[in-house]
Amino acid sequence: MAEIAVYPGSFDPVTNGHLDIIKRSNNIFDKVIVAVFNNPTKRPLFDMEERVEMLERAVKDYDSVEVDCFAGLLTTYLKEKEAKVIVRGLRAVSDFESEFQMASMNKKLASDIETIFMMTSTEYAYLSSSIIKEVASFEGCVRDLIPEFIVDRLFERLKERDQLL
Ligand code: ADP
Repeated sequence: MAEIAVYPGSFDPVTNGHLDIIKRSNNIFDKVIVAVFNNPTKRPLFDMEERVEMLERAVKDYDSVEVDCFAGLLTTYLKEKEAKVIVRGLRAVSDFESEFQMASMNKKLASDIETIFMMTSTEYAYLSSSIIKEVASFEGCVRDLIPEFIVDRLFERLKERDQLL
């Protein structure tokens, strides 16, 4: 049976750190579903459709990577997709606590689902969507850190939202 992995996240927007995890997961699993989480408690910079569309464009060269979105429990989503593996990335020690809590809760909810952690590549260790948005809001250069086609869109959106400082 094909081993399907789900890589969930906010991807607001996708960064080269995310793409590194996707590429490496694609080398291990038969199919990787990058699943954009619709978190009702957060107001994202890019709406769900935009985040999905940007990811689709960023992963277009990978045949066995699919982009989707979900709301509700991640474990329920995995069952729908007949997937048994959750992929998450780990950067600093500070990621560990919340990831450990989430993985433990997901194990409690669905004991047959495993969370696999992939260590960040050192060149992306400091990268997060939040820091990209923060640097861009001060008009700092984010080239080489996110896909090229997102750079202008990011600045435009920050301007529209009056978030260029
Ligand atoms: P979430 O809000 O679920 O943390 P993110 O989009 O911020 O969503 O991140 C999705 C996943 O990607 C998380 O597991 C996060 O740790 C991982 N990740 C984010 N940036 C990097 C990076 N630079 N290197 C490795 N993993 C990363």
